[in-house]
Amino acid sequence: MVMTLTFANSAKGYQNFKVAVYTRAQEVNQMSDANWLESRWNEISRQVKVDKIYLETHRDVVLVDEETMNKAKEFFKSRGVETAGGITYTIMESNRFQTFCYTKPESRMRVKEIAEYTAKFFDEVILDDFFFTSCKCESCIKAKGDKSWSEFRVELMREAGQNLVVKPAKAVNPKVKVVIKYPNWYEHFQGCGFDLEGQPKYFDGIYTGTETRDPVFTDQHLQQYESYLVFRYFENIKPKGNGGGWVDTGAMRYMDRYAEQLWLTMFAKAPEITLFDFRQMVSPIREGLIGAWQGQQTSFDYNEMMKPIKLPDGTEVAPSTMARAAGYSFEQIDGFLGELGNPVGIKSYKPYHSVGEEFLHNYIGMCGIPMDLLPEFPVDANMIFLAETAKFDKQIVEKIKRELMAGKPVMITSGLYKALQGKGIEDIVELRIEDQKATTSEFWSRRSLWGRQGVVFKSKEPIIIPEIKYLTNDSWEEISCLASGIGYPILHSADYGGGRLYILTIPDNFGDLYNLPAEVLNQIREVLAREMYVRLEGPSQVAMFVYDNDTFIVESFLPEAVDVKIVADKRISKLRDLVSGEEVSGELITPPTRRFGPAVAPEKTGFNLKLKPHSFRVFKCE
Ligand SMILES: [Zn+2]
Repeated sequence: MVMTLTFANSAKGYQNFKVAVYTRAQEVNQMSDANWLESRWNEISRQVKVDKIYLETHRDVVLVDEETMNKAKEFFKSRGVETAGGITYTIMESNRFQTFCYTKPESRMRVKEIAEYTAKFFDEVILDDFFFTSCKCESCIKAKGDKSWSEFRVELMREAGQNLVVKPAKAVNPKVKVVIKYPNWYEHFQGCGFDLEGQPKYFDGIYTGTETRDPVFTDQHLQQYESYLVFRYFENIKPKGNGGGWVDTGAMRYMDRYAEQLWLTMFAKAPEITLFDFRQMVSPIREGLIGAWQGQQTSFDYNEMMKPIKLPDGTEVAPSTMARAAGYSFEQIDGFLGELGNPVGIKSYKPYHSVGEEFLHNYIGMCGIPMDLLPEFPVDANMIFLAETAKFDKQIVEKIKRELMAGKPVMITSGLYKALQGKGIEDIVELRIEDQKATTSEFWSRRSLWGRQGVVFKSKEPIIIPEIKYLTNDSWEEISCLASGIGYPILHSADYGGGRLYILTIPDNFGDLYNLPAEVLNQIREVLAREMYVRLEGPSQVAMFVYDNDTFIVESFLPEAVDVKIVADKRISKLRDLVSGEEVSGELITPPTRRFGPAVAPEKTGFNLKLKPHSFRVFKCE
């Protein structure tokens, strides 16, 4: 037997997660050519350790024949690589992701046949991003009747998943585990029938699209933090049933962006990561993707990545394709992931099929506040953050009141307050948020009396905000802005029962949250993250990932180096860098005595850190 030694089949994989590569039907078809397959597989598996491969049977009406499927399966089996099936239910991806129609009998029949066909080959089958419908044919319009498209499609796809996919697949192969992969546009799912409420109950597993790509030059404008948050959100929907995260190499201006997506997926503690896809893994590394900050030993160090890889048989291989970017990125984190506990964050609630202040939680995460998004109202939290999406819960005002009456703080956004006007929120505090806007670039806080001392902090750019109107002495400004000599609340608060309701003013353009001065962000963090043993001080676009065992990660997405401070509970006297071993000592922070505002804050320990561009540091608190 001739053995080609590659580190994927001779060495163990990564310690803390499994790596899978997804293969589209188009490439599975090419696998009928053994030479084509062998050379490409060798190239991939020399550069990244792969435990599993997904072999797709169908995409864009391309169906892989039985002989090719079996040949491909056998190839990987003989190399000790696990195989699973994949299905993409598209008619034509290039035509605005044209999906199947789920009301026409012949189209439904085809969906069912594909599920049955795939289940014959595999004990695990995953559906790629497209098990939704955007069909507005005559048949669908008729079937919709008086329902909204969202309502109609959620019901339609709940039924289709059950009757056309899961049941038929299991009838053919009772052992098959059917997994539905959900993409990154969670806020809009209901519009095309992705059903986060019903489907996770009968699919054996779910899976998470953690690809966020470029936050600026893509239509979606997804924030980097979502690669972490969306995995946590889906994990909260199906605890221990969220099989992994999934990242492609698309739409990036610098290669660090690819690494960041992989890292954040693993920082969310995903047990598996899928690399999309076989074809992208053999695409060449492009020098055009070298970030301007390279050469400063940043977390993704291009020159380090390009160093030859030593294989177990002693031969050296020069990195050549994107598989190496993945492999190198994994090597940067595998050593410490096992030391991280369970992720924790400020609990926030997004009811099923809700929409409002879209994807806002990710912007809050990018402001250095760890978020944890749940599909049910969190009952055991000591601080809850609620954005406009929470309005979809008809009992939301009662639930907020219950928290306040129990003496707990709740923070809601200006968008949620506005949506709940006339629906009982005035029972807690009478504010008015109407259509008037102010433009501001100056901020001050009553707590530290910046304003009285004439100290104001300026935002990077002018910001347009909704004007919050309140009744004097009934509720209070915590952070204020100035606009043409008058001002409006940025953070406002009102007492109710034993608790305090905070209202956070959200700029019309969420991107302006990043323009807020560090001092303003610090105070918002101090209120929102008061229960956490560490919190960040510094500018936006630096994120914190915090775990329940005194470990945390701080990661900058800024293109230049940045100074930040970690404010920790007093019991923590030093931080140990889990990568370099370096110890960082802290200094005691004694809060100033105050004439106004809440009781004097507890003493803390402060740690000053420098973060390189697009880099993270991971610490254990001691
Ligand atoms: Zn249709």
